[in-house]
Amino acid sequence: MTDTMTKPAPINHWLGGKLTPGTSSRSAKVFNPATGEVQGLVDLASRAEVDAAVAAAVQTARSWRTVPLSRRAEIMFRFRALLDARRDDLARILTSEHGKVHADALGEIARGIENVDFACGIPNLLKGGYSEGASTGVDVYSIQQPLGVVAGITPFNFPAMVPLWMIANALACGNVFILKPSEKDPSASLFIAELLQQAGLPDGVFTVLHGDKEAVDALLEHPDIAAVSFVGSTPIARYIYQKGTEHGKRVQALGGAKNHMLVLPDADVNMAADAAVSAAYGSAGERCMAISVVLAVGDVADGLVDAIASRLPSLKVGPGSDAANEMGPLISREHRDRVAGYVGSAADQGATVVVDGRAQTFDGNGFFLGVSLLDHVTPDMDAYRDEIFGPVLCVVRVPTYEAGLKLINDNEFGNGTAIFTRDGGAARQFQFDCQVGMVGINVPIPVPVAYYSFGGWKASLFGDTHMYGPDGVKFYTRTKVITSRWPDPAGSRVDLGFPQNR
Ligand code: NAD
Repeated sequence: MTDTMTKPAPINHWLGGKLTPGTSSRSAKVFNPATGEVQGLVDLASRAEVDAAVAAAVQTARSWRTVPLSRRAEIMFRFRALLDARRDDLARILTSEHGKVHADALGEIARGIENVDFACGIPNLLKGGYSEGASTGVDVYSIQQPLGVVAGITPFNFPAMVPLWMIANALACGNVFILKPSEKDPSASLFIAELLQQAGLPDGVFTVLHGDKEAVDALLEHPDIAAVSFVGSTPIARYIYQKGTEHGKRVQALGGAKNHMLVLPDADVNMAADAAVSAAYGSAGERCMAISVVLAVGDVADGLVDAIASRLPSLKVGPGSDAANEMGPLISREHRDRVAGYVGSAADQGATVVVDGRAQTFDGNGFFLGVSLLDHVTPDMDAYRDEIFGPVLCVVRVPTYEAGLKLINDNEFGNGTAIFTRDGGAARQFQFDCQVGMVGINVPIPVPVAYYSFGGWKASLFGDTHMYGPDGVKFYTRTKVITSRWPDPAGSRVDLGFPQNR
């Protein structure tokens, strides 16, 4: 192998419609999690680079907002066609930097494309209201205008889908967008930038600035950034919300999760077990909507734990580039070790380790960990309290529906939850009772379709608008209400009274 083949590739910013090397002389390593090798070095933007990018964006925002709706929609249609045609190429990028298996990467892309589908309807979505004759000779109407320059800060676990949650609506609404993707898997955002350019998006309307805390802080403090969308862990989401709003910005900050699946005694045990395995271990558990806790109600527990455990030996864990594999590695060595630590601490704290993923061995230096199943977990254990974000499923045995519901509602997070039952009345009661933003009824990962909006409750979301869908359009626009009349100047007179309907 030659030296050039082993040298990590530089991963640059996307500024003014082209790849642009950073000037900060700071960079971060980008790994291939399946091999443990460093394959890229991503530039980390300095505050000065953020300032320059925002200044350019402010200029571009003036012209982009004048581009007609029909033209913006046309760009979205073309972007959608390009994404569709290049699904495989994008999926390979996801697998190489994130580690998820190809089929899962294709699933992420499909759910991302849904958001572009939605944004293709932007002329319809931005229709305002019009009240003819609100008062005598007076018409009132509303228009929705873009905010200007907006920023998105995204997590490592969905390097294509989460940026698409934001970009599609933000651009279609007429905003200029600066994306600060995760520095762990930054290349998908550059691929998306190229497709947007091919779709006809004018240069400068979409910028990718790589970086870490320095770049994020510069974006949060910059007076010309009107709004920030964030998705990531709860401590950072809270920080982004506080700092962004302190600096006068509109902020939506989606945080972490601990999603419980409540299995009632009447549930079909095999169906519930299939769902729990799929939702707990898909993408190595690195999904904010992963099921990490099964609440087994009453006498369903023994059969359910057996059914889940029986499915685990046949799961194929290995490099995501091999189509036979169902689960890939974790994002980093440190994260893999942290996840493994929870299996150990749960055992020490009294849980039963039914399947120990630490026992599975793998060739090479990839960040792999086998799947783990923990039974008799209790709410005081670390494995229950923390978001593990790995292939570890905890089973908590509860005596009743009410006891299970209480755990769900007492949890600090409220992203997703699911109930498995054959009783429609119980499911309906659960949907009414639970303090969670997204609820599945016999659906383990209830990520809403793109024409609804995505958002958790409690520590899973800071801000009052959810992500994408109708809330996305609301977040990326400001409403203006116009009151208009065209009177005959001959009837004009001074009137100091407060305007009222006549
Ligand atoms: P993270 O919070 O570490 O990073 C998210 C983003 O914030 C990245 O772009 C990162 O560069 C930036 N960042 C990290 N530390 C920062 C700091 N100190 N100051 C400023 N910016 C900082 O999250 P992650 O590990 O990339 O992603 C996993 C987390 O994201 C999990 O908690 C998961 O539940 C959550 N997540 C939530 C949703 C949701 O919709 N609620 C979706 C996906 C992921």
